[in-house]
Amino acid sequence: MKSYKLGVIGNPIEHSLSPKIHSIFAKQANIQIDYQAYRVEEIDLELFIEDFFKKGGDGLNVTVPHKINCLNFADEHSADVRAIGAANTLSFNKSTNKIYAHTTDGAGFVADAIKKDISIFDANILILGAGGAAQSIIPMIHAKHPASIVLDNRTQEKIQTVLDRFSLLKSDEPSARAKLTGLKNFSKHRSLTDNINLVINTTSAGFDGPFSWDKDIFTTKDTIFYDLSYNKIDSSTPFLSWASQYSDQCHNGIGMLINQAALSFEIWTGIKPDINLAENEFFNE
Ligand code: NAP
Repeated sequence: MKSYKLGVIGNPIEHSLSPKIHSIFAKQANIQIDYQAYRVEEIDLELFIEDFFKKGGDGLNVTVPHKINCLNFADEHSADVRAIGAANTLSFNKSTNKIYAHTTDGAGFVADAIKKDISIFDANILILGAGGAAQSIIPMIHAKHPASIVLDNRTQEKIQTVLDRFSLLKSDEPSARAKLTGLKNFSKHRSLTDNINLVINTTSAGFDGPFSWDKDIFTTKDTIFYDLSYNKIDSSTPFLSWASQYSDQCHNGIGMLINQAALSFEIWTGIKPDINLAENEFFNE
């Protein structure tokens, strides 16, 4: 039986759920994997990646804080990686001897949204946060033709950086009609911030106390709240506890985590995991 040498690198990494998720996929696919979580310091990143693949490694997931710097040590970058400037998956092709960088976060989010019947098409979407996670989902959301995407972030200057990075998405082509906007003042732009259908939290705010946002968010009872974060103890998060005052349609980021992992697994092994089965097993274990 073919065996794959895989892993996830980050710092911290001790609490990563990726080894558990990939072991569920491997069991389902009836293949053998050795998937370990490796704590890697920034200074050791190049050496670790080089060594891992030289010693037979097939693939690595990459998490905070290495998603951007890992690109320096990959030979080829996918088009999505070039667009967002970060990767969460490295694969090694043993015939070309090359390391390939991919990103599966954005596609993982969209796959989970579809599974949960969260409509992106024609939706007015508010994204809180402008860090790596926000940037990884923006092009994939945009490709699903929302009506508008409004960005807000604690540090306002970072919004402009993201708008500049994705300036091509602002084009007037019919296929790219959603406006990507950053607003300093929501109340002054009620036409864009009223009728928000989906609020996505991509910040890490709230994990040292309750979540709050410094602007009024205008939602309806049908607004859906999606938190990229998750916690291992229950399905709520500080953001979702805050959101529950507005809506009962609240989702955490576990589904996205499982979907992005499944896409990485498929890149490495060519096998597409069954997400429903994997989720059942994940929650019942
Ligand atoms: P990041 O690049 O460090 O960005 C962090 C973001 O959070 C920035 O926008 C930052 O705003 C904001 N933030 C941090 N503390 C805040 C506070 N107290 N108040 C308001 N805003 C605050 O991190 P990231 O890679 O984007 O990850 C963000 C979250 O997404 C993490 O919780 C991560 O676990 C989650 N995530 C989940 C998945 C999944 O598969 N479910 C995948 C990727 C990421 P400033 O710019 O003002 O600092």
